[in-house]
Amino acid sequence: MRDLRPEVQAFLDRVAAFIDTEIRPNEATYAQQVEEGGRWCVPPVMEEMKAKAKAEGLWNFFLPGYEGEFGTGLSNFEYSHLAEKMGAVGIASEVFNCSAPDTGNMEVLERYGSEEQKETWLKPLLAGEIRSAFGMTEPGVASSDATNMAATAVLDGDEYVINGEKWWTSGAGDPRCKIIVFMCVTDQDPDSPRHKRHSQILVPMDSEGIEVRKMMEVFGWDDAPHGHAHLKFTNVRVPKSNMILGEGRGFEIAQGRLGPGRIHHCMRAVGLGERALQMMCERSQSRVAFGKPLSQLGGNMDIIANSRIELNMARLLTLQAAHMMDTVGNKVAASEIAQIKVIVPNIVCDVIDRAIQMHGGAGVSQVFPLARMYAGMRTLRLADGPDEVHRRSVARYELGKYSDYDKTKVESSNVSRS
Ligand SMILES: Cc1cc2nc3c(=O)[nH]c(=O)nc-3n(C[C@H](O)[C@H](O)[C@H](O)COP(=O)(O)OP(=O)(O)OC[C@H]3O[C@@H](n4cnc5c(N)ncnc54)[C@H](O)[C@@H]3O)c2cc1C
Repeated sequence: MRDLRPEVQAFLDRVAAFIDTEIRPNEATYAQQVEEGGRWCVPPVMEEMKAKAKAEGLWNFFLPGYEGEFGTGLSNFEYSHLAEKMGAVGIASEVFNCSAPDTGNMEVLERYGSEEQKETWLKPLLAGEIRSAFGMTEPGVASSDATNMAATAVLDGDEYVINGEKWWTSGAGDPRCKIIVFMCVTDQDPDSPRHKRHSQILVPMDSEGIEVRKMMEVFGWDDAPHGHAHLKFTNVRVPKSNMILGEGRGFEIAQGRLGPGRIHHCMRAVGLGERALQMMCERSQSRVAFGKPLSQLGGNMDIIANSRIELNMARLLTLQAAHMMDTVGNKVAASEIAQIKVIVPNIVCDVIDRAIQMHGGAGVSQVFPLARMYAGMRTLRLADGPDEVHRRSVARYELGKYSDYDKTKVESSNVSRS
């Protein structure tokens, strides 16, 4: 594995130090302020930490290759190392303005947005003044297959009229969420090509006709203040100029954002797995049963060893995918990106589960963050496409090596939601 450039290593050290000294000690304060603020609020400590990170230049690391206003000029491979650090502390990525779904949305706006869209939405997102959501998944259709999306946008004069329902719209619970990147049908002709019927359009959260039907729960957690909303759109009108790139180009945009989001998710997951492994080691050495530390009992040494081996595998596979994105491009790296999206959340789920077991009853309680960590990681086997869809892509790429399999089919079945 190649070394980091010295300036990137120095940057990574600064990020790690900032997380340890400024963010980790504020985790409890953040949770307390969410509680006191009625959950769907902006905890003041988050804005304080953001201001500090921004002032120190620790901001917007995520757009590969961009410097200045758009980022720090890091490659995907370099950024991956930062993402791992951020992943160990749940609130860290927001502090550096590097959290989903804003990162993917900013990437889309930067690549495909008009000048007006950039001015209105990208600038405040880059500045961390507002947040955003991505609305693809719908309650009424199997959304693993993105061509099933049924919400509509119909042109009426200078406006699109939007109707439909979306759920699992992450981030929509945050009062700072001002804009949804909304995937919808613009070509109602069922005989039109399946991947040319959908578009992505910008829908301001304060538009008339948007109803929050409920906030979704993950194993009973509401994930406030970020949250995942079930939204209903009834005759919501937005200016024609809110269309991104053009009608029928929704899948083209979704393909364009394929990649970095999955690297971010997976490296953050590795960071979380490392935290679980550390907790497993600390707990199993500090508690004694049957006259020995827990670590020395039964197969616990093997469990610890396997966790280390599997986390290293997860990290290396993710770094390899990131390296390929940097060197041969997102398209050629598509199978590797799908591979990590399957294997990394599965490995990290297992590691957290083992850490829970080694903590006994405390592992599933509120005393340790493990249950919460597990819930978050388990959702990553669904969010941004379930395991099976990504496995299907990997298998198709493999089969394609030995036949004339149509690769465009693979790509369009595996659109990015991160
Ligand atoms: C916490 C969380 C956050 C999310 N955030 C967002 C968000 O911000 N924006 C957004 O648009 N969506 C979001 N999602 C939704 C997520 O992307 C979808 O849940 C996912 O794509 C699956 O769609 P579905 O729920 O409709 O499942 P379905 O399409 O109904 O699929 C159900 C199951 O069918 C099986 N299946 C599907 N296809 C295949 C196949 N080819 N082979 C074998 N089995 C298959 C899988 O086991 C799959 O889990 C989020 C989900 C969660 C849990």
